[in-house]
Amino acid sequence: MDAQMLTMIKNELDFDLLFERHPYPLWIHRQQDLALISTNAALENLLGFEHTELQQMTLRDLLFVEDLPRFESLIQSPEITGRLPGAWHLTCKNGTLLRVALDLQPLESQNGIIWGTFTEEPAPSAEKNILEARVRLSKYAFDHTLDELLQKTLDEAERLTNSQIGFFHFVEADQRTLWLQTWSTNTLQNMCTAAGKFSHYSIEKAGVWVDCLHQRRPVIHNDYASLPHRKGLPPGHAAIQRELVIPVIRNDVVVSILGVGNKPEEYDAADVVTVNLLADLAWDITGKKRAEDELIESEKKFHGIFKQSPVAIEIFDAEGRLIDANPACLEMFGVPSLEHVLGFRLFEDPNIPEDALASLARGETVSYEELFNFDLVKENHLYPTSRSGNFAINCIIHPLGEQGQKNTGYLVHIRDITTRQQAEKDLLETHTALEQANKELHQALAREKNLARTDSLTGIYNRRHFFEMAAHEFQVARRYNNPLAVIMFDIDNFKGINDAFGHQIGDEVLKQVAQTTSQHLRDVDILARYGGEEFTILLPNCTVKEAAQVAHRFQEEIARINIPTTQGPATATVSVGITEYQPEIETLDELMHQADLAMYAAKNSGRNRSVIFSRD
Ligand code: GH3
Ligand code: MG
Ligand code: MG
Repeated sequence: MDAQMLTMIKNELDFDLLFERHPYPLWIHRQQDLALISTNAALENLLGFEHTELQQMTLRDLLFVEDLPRFESLIQSPEITGRLPGAWHLTCKNGTLLRVALDLQPLESQNGIIWGTFTEEPAPSAEKNILEARVRLSKYAFDHTLDELLQKTLDEAERLTNSQIGFFHFVEADQRTLWLQTWSTNTLQNMCTAAGKFSHYSIEKAGVWVDCLHQRRPVIHNDYASLPHRKGLPPGHAAIQRELVIPVIRNDVVVSILGVGNKPEEYDAADVVTVNLLADLAWDITGKKRAEDELIESEKKFHGIFKQSPVAIEIFDAEGRLIDANPACLEMFGVPSLEHVLGFRLFEDPNIPEDALASLARGETVSYEELFNFDLVKENHLYPTSRSGNFAINCIIHPLGEQGQKNTGYLVHIRDITTRQQAEKDLLETHTALEQANKELHQALAREKNLARTDSLTGIYNRRHFFEMAAHEFQVARRYNNPLAVIMFDIDNFKGINDAFGHQIGDEVLKQVAQTTSQHLRDVDILARYGGEEFTILLPNCTVKEAAQVAHRFQEEIARINIPTTQGPATATVSVGITEYQPEIETLDELMHQADLAMYAAKNSGRNRSVIFSRD
């Protein structure tokens, strides 16, 4: 595009005000090849592309493939002005489709240059069905396995699109392997006798349905039989007449694929919108469930090694109290059963050399050889034992936990070095395997913990975790009479935001409110999503006055949130209640209740303000 031409166009539109900062999504393209010449921030926001990415694209790249032939034939006419007939679909960067009405307008000053805009058009009745299906699935996820949940998701997708087949695959990070295949109930019962599930599967061998993975966008095959690159289906697989397959994309990577097939009529973009929403939801719920399953697996692995190892193993907690010992250990020390030795204190055993204790206190791993004396055990009443006298041992005591952090406990290996050679080999093998398993267990634990305590939409803590942390802070404040403030706030007229702009924008508002607030807090403050559009903050060592200043700052910042939508900018305000710990407050609930009352006072006195709790 030559500079002179752009200058003229810019002048005509009074570029900055009318174009770039316009709340409606706007673009300018060349009629001849549909190349995008310029796009505004609202459009970039809605579709998720960067400005520079869009500059390399054409309108063809944005329009959903199935809409293209209709579009190409319409714009043949030289006189395209105003709203194009019918519904259109634009592809967002994350693969979802927006259902829109399109308006095109030729520029008066420039031949062959068109400017356009779009308005989102939800399909009202379908949207209600999808919302209901989402609610059903979220509830179902609570007490069902991952497999059952995926199957239920497929059943819903099938029902909403009037399909007869449904399937789901996870895609490995290498983008080459699929795993865990689940079919819908109907596919399993009536359509398909092929092997139900297989663990790993190479994408190169998969059928045409992986087109959606290569293209990274939804793919419809309405005439399956005519596809030239179609591969044979496994024996017993249902005959496919047509299919719709959707990739779920997270952080730019395809993480799973959800497909439906054999609708009696042709699949269209409305089906894509429906399946898209369900596939997204299924992925978010399965993320949590997979983390839980991994944790259970690592625990099993750890305990398998522990139970079967020929080396004696003991596990102590952070205070050095015995919490577990394996069968080899009980036998070595002549202890009748685990209960007899539980709680035994590692550091009270006079058999441990002084210098080993000193190293342990510094957090180091120690390894020593000695003559272990059972008489000392008996004299000090450490635990009952059937053995007496001495025997030679090698003992390794290994502090547990991530480096640089507080100990979470101790792992102890003991071998009888009277039969040295075999024992050395056993020890080495067991130690390596256990350490690896312990590491995996810790990682799985950390992942699971993180998911269990955060709110999936906003990424901040959830209510349950808030109360876990708050209980501790409340005790500290009580014991040392430290200041402790609580802020509670709720988005004003949030229902109105959902109604005016749709749930997706509502979600975006929630995210931005959480993000904005967290920018004004200290590391020690605990921000959590308390309920739907209600948030709470615990501020240790902070007076009510200081808390009010913090609230004032984030409240102003929240009022500046501005999300462009086709119905104009979405904005938000919050009503805030603030209170602080006083010696006469006996429970955390009382303190929270005060913050709640103050917040309702803020609501009742007109919203978008903060109120400090007072008794009268
Ligand atoms: P008030 O100023 O009195 O607080 O009015 P309000 O409309 O904000 O309060 P109300 O409690 O009547 O409505 C809260 C709405 O928030 C209802 C519910 O549908 C919506 N909501 C709750 N959780 C979510 C969510 O995760 N996403 C979206 N988009 N909406 C949610
Ligand atoms: Mg509200
Ligand atoms: Mg509320």
